[in-house]
Amino acid sequence: MDDSPPPPSRPCPICGKPARQPYQPFCSRRCAQIDLGRWLKGAYRIETDESPDDDEVER
Ligand SMILES: [Zn+2]
Repeated sequence: MDDSPPPPSRPCPICGKPARQPYQPFCSRRCAQIDLGRWLKGAYRIETDESPDDDEVER
């Protein structure tokens, strides 16, 4: 009996297509990189939100 249905895969959070190995939870490397880019962008923004020059204002 090999008629069992495949496990339900979550759709790609980027484009909504079914996720695929080995890129899960994304459907492709491109979507994975898009998500990674968003994440890095967010982290980068938080980092640059603080003014690093504040410590050297007084000389
Ligand atoms: Zn996708």
